[in-house]
Parts: sequence; C-alpha cells; structure tokens
Amino acid sequence: MEVNPRAGRPSSASLRAGVLRSIALWFDTGAAAADGDAAMSRTTPAPAAAACQRIDWLRVLPFVGVHAGCLAVLAVGFSWVALGTAVLLYALRMFAITGFYHRYFAHRAFRASRPVQFAFALLGASSAQRGPLWWASHHRHHHAHSDTSDDPHSPRRHGFLWSHTGWFLAREAFATRMERVPDLACFPELRFLDRFDLLAPLVLGILLFSAGELLAHLSPGLQTSGSQLLVWGFFISTVALYHATFCINSLSHCFGTRRYETCDDSRNNLWLALLTFGEGWHNNHHHFPGAARQGFHWWEVDLTYLGLRALAALGAITGLKQAPAELLAARRSARTPAGART
Ligand SMILES: [Zn+2]
Ligand SMILES: [Zn+2]
Repeated sequence: MEVNPRAGRPSSASLRAGVLRSIALWFDTGAAAADGDAAMSRTTPAPAAAACQRIDWLRVLPFVGVHAGCLAVLAVGFSWVALGTAVLLYALRMFAITGFYHRYFAHRAFRASRPVQFAFALLGASSAQRGPLWWASHHRHHHAHSDTSDDPHSPRRHGFLWSHTGWFLAREAFATRMERVPDLACFPELRFLDRFDLLAPLVLGILLFSAGELLAHLSPGLQTSGSQLLVWGFFISTVALYHATFCINSLSHCFGTRRYETCDDSRNNLWLALLTFGEGWHNNHHHFPGAARQGFHWWEVDLTYLGLRALAALGAITGLKQAPAELLAARRSARTPAGART
C-alpha cells in the first residue's frame, strides 16, 4: 500500500484504490487477482492467529446490509404467504447447505451427476454464504485443524463471537483455499458461481420481488407485495439461515454431549440438529466426517439424511456413504492426518 511519508499513513489515492477494490469485490471475488493484490489473490491465507484481527468493513457491507434489510419488515408488514415463503426458502436452502455444500462438496459423502451438482450448488449459493468452493475449502481446513490455533473459527481459540460471525469477515478469509479443493476446481461452472457469488442471491431477490408483484396483481386477497416477499423470503429467511449455520461453528463446539472422544470440542446437540436439519450431531460428524448420515442412531433426527435418501430413491444421487460399524462403536478417535479428515 502506498504511504504518505509525512503523515506515515496511507495516501488518499491509496485509500481510494482500496475503497474501489472492496466495492469491486462485492461483484467479482476474482477482482483481487486482476489488480495484483497479493494479500487477496493468494490461495493460502495467512495463519489464523494473524488473520483474527482485521475486519474489512467496506468489503462486508452486503452482509451487514442483509441484516439491516430485515428492519424493512416494519414497513412491509406480515402476510401468511410471506411467512410461508420465508419458511420454505429456509428449508430448501438449509438442505442445499447441509446436504450439498457440507456433505457433498466438503466431504464427498455421495456421488451426484454434474447437472444435479450444479443445481444444488446454485441453490446453496442463493443462501449468500459465498460459493461452493469457498465454503468447502474453509470447511475442510476446519476439519484438518479443529480447535487448534490454525482453526479460523474455533470458539476455544478465538472466542464465541469470532467463531460465530467474525472469522469470515476478516480480509484473510475472503480468498478460496484452492489448494484444498482441486477436485471441485476442475468444474468451470462451480468456479463461476464461486467467483460471482453475489449473482445467485441477487437473482433470488429479483424473482421474489417479481412473484410478489404478480401475486399482488392477480390475487390481492393474499395481501402481499413484491417488497414484502423480498423482505420475508430473502432478508429474514437468509439471516435465519446464516445464524443457524454459524451455530455449528460456534455452539456445536461448546454445548452438548460428547459420545466420541475426538481431538476437538465438537458436541452433539438435539436442538441444533433440529434447527440445522441434522448438523447438530457434530461430535458424530467429527468422529467420522465422511458419512452422509450424521445422526448415527434412529433417535438422532437428521432431516438432511432423509432428504438425501429421497434423492437417492429418485436416482438423482448415488453411493451414500455410511460410518463403519466398528467406528460407530468406538469411543476414542485418534487425530488423523489433515488430508484424511474430510
Ligand atoms: Zn466442527
Ligand atoms: Zn464437516
């Protein structure tokens, strides 16, 4: 960064360039590579300890804006169709995040054809949790370094708030860890979703607004509107989805029971499992990350696994991996090499 020698501070030209770059990154996460910013374009971010301090507030304004957008509910009001849309989109996108972003892209717990893979990547991307490569790469890194100082969202190491909603706002966490997802990076359509990660949420917002306007015109008795469906279907539903997902990084490493003595603080928690369609069986998951099913017993509700079973019955996916019987019975889990823990 260019520095004004008199003041010892960044020059105004340098600050202006930084502002423009942050705004460009809202629309194109590959913009950093184009302008030669080594800090943003490298594939391996700095160690988490160094990364933990700097939040790029301008870069993360869209994330803040999604939260602020919920306040518009005071202006647009309530309707049952708006609430139903929010719940439906929460359920569909939660399934895309847990079933595909997590169990498929991060852990390869089953096989899917290229069109199915893309369809659920697109649905997952509409959750505004970045692209599938970014999500999977950082999650694989979490499993390789769970609750060590190199785990970017360990509540033990970095505190609850940072693990819940701070780590991904830091500049060093913006880049996709490409070295962790070579098996995914070979698909140009996935790289496109990852690079232009604003597109899917934007299209969802436009569709919701258009549908609301259409309903207001065709069926005024429903008492909805374009702006109301946008606020409930996108802003409120997405914020609920955000924090349910983030709970797995934070609460699932703090509260619950430990069936298996894994080398981290992962817990099983029924309430989180209900909220996240099965992700709350996080101690089970850290014990055997490669399984498509995270609720290892019949009483451990895992709605995502039921959804995956339904997709398998329809022939859309195949090869759902199960945890081996001897691992289910084991109480102890040795720390396995980084590459084997995804
Ligand atoms: Zn974890
Ligand atoms: Zn995982």
